Amino acid sequence: MRIAVIGVQGAVEEHVVATKKAMQKLGIDGEVLAVRRKGIVSKSDGVIIPGGESTTISRLMFRDSIASEIIELAEEGKPVMGTCAGLILLSKHGDEQVEKTKTKLLGLLDVWIKRNAFGRQRESFQVKLNVKYVGEFEAVFIRAPAITKVGEDVEVLATFEDYIVAVKQDNVLGLAFHPELTEDTRVHEFFLKMALD
Ligand code: GLN
Repeated sequence: MRIAVIGVQGAVEEHVVATKKAMQKLGIDGEVLAVRRKGIVSKSDGVIIPGGESTTISRLMFRDSIASEIIELAEEGKPVMGTCAGLILLSKHGDEQVEKTKTKLLGLLDVWIKRNAFGRQRESFQVKLNVKYVGEFEAVFIRAPAITKVGEDVEVLATFEDYIVAVKQDNVLGLAFHPELTEDTRVHEFFLKMALD
């Protein structure tokens, strides 16, 4: 199995490490690659878009033709996971911040996204969430976005306060928090199991 972690900017290495650990736990023989150029995503069995700065990741991903490969991979039914900024990029409906910065989105998740939803006072925090298919999970939020509304094909996996913070639409998984920043690899294991199906 080969998993591609989009490596143009952001929390890349943490996802590589967490995915490798999850592979070991599941007894999967595979490799995890940080991807900075085109031609690799299309030869992968799944792709992860990390957190970071959505404006920067978007610009580099579209400039270097990695974006179209992610869309094609998702259309083939291979699993795609986006965390934090990665969730913003997977969404179909941006907010005024996304529009103002002219950030191009992949449009793979039929969700309405709000950038920096938790405001300045709570730039980062940690909270226990109940995540469907995973269980209780210690979620790390860093200048996180949130989902305000979902289309009918989207399954809600977790909520926090008034917001939706984890979703699944068929083979596409989106999380507002950072599962790669804890020792707990269950989210990555769930993602890898999607790649095995
Ligand atoms: N606030 C960032 C953005 O809007 C996302 C933060 C993150 O990925 N940790 O792009």
